[in-house]
Amino acid sequence: MIRKCKEHGYFRGESCPDCGDEGRYVLDDDREERLGRFVSGALRHFPEDVGIEMDPQGWVEVDQLCDVMKKRYKWGTMERLVSLVESDRKGRYEIDSGYIRARYGHSVDVDLISDYLENDLPDLYYGVSQEEADMLLDNGIFPIRQTYVHLSTSFEKAKEAASIHTDNPVIIEIDASAAQQDGVDIVTVNDYIVLARGIPPEYLSVVESGV
Ligand SMILES: [Zn+2]
Repeated sequence: MIRKCKEHGYFRGESCPDCGDEGRYVLDDDREERLGRFVSGALRHFPEDVGIEMDPQGWVEVDQLCDVMKKRYKWGTMERLVSLVESDRKGRYEIDSGYIRARYGHSVDVDLISDYLENDLPDLYYGVSQEEADMLLDNGIFPIRQTYVHLSTSFEKAKEAASIHTDNPVIIEIDASAAQQDGVDIVTVNDYIVLARGIPPEYLSVVESGV
C-alpha cells in the first residue's frame, strides 16, 4: 500500500517510516502491483507496444506515459504514478523535468553509461551457479535477457541476489579498477547496483568470502 505523509511524502506500508504517522491513502496493494508491472513493462521492456516514445537514454514524457496508463486504468492518475516512483525503496525509476525513466533493468537498448557516474569501487561482485561460473570465467560476464549486467557492490549483496536463483552460489569478484583503466565502462546507479555492458574474463576471479 502507498500512503502519503504530510511531512515526509509518499511511503509504502501502514505508517510513515520517518515519523510513524499513518498519512493519507493513495494506492492499495493490488493497484500498486498492477501499476508497478505496467510501468516496469513500459519503461524497461516494450515502450513501443504501449505506444510511448523513448529517447536513446531511456526517457519518456511523464504526460505521455500517464495518458497511456489512464487508458488502461481509469484510476491511474499522475499522483499515483509519482507516488509509485517516489515511494520505491529500490529507486527503480527517476523523474526529471517532465520526463521519467527506469534506472536499471532494461531489455530495450538504452544508453545509461553516459548519464551515470563512473563506478569508484575497486572491486565488484557477481553471484552465479557453479555451472555458470565456469562458463563466465572462460567467456566473461555478458547480459542475456537484459541490456546491462547488474553487478553488486559487496560480496554479501551478490550472494543475496544470486540466492534467489541458485543454492550455494559462487561469487565472482570483478577487478573493476583494472577493467576501467583498460576502458571497460562501468557505472554506478545506486548504492547497491552497478551496470556494465559486459566484463571480459581477464578481470574475473572466484572468491570465497567478502574479506
Ligand atoms: Zn512522516
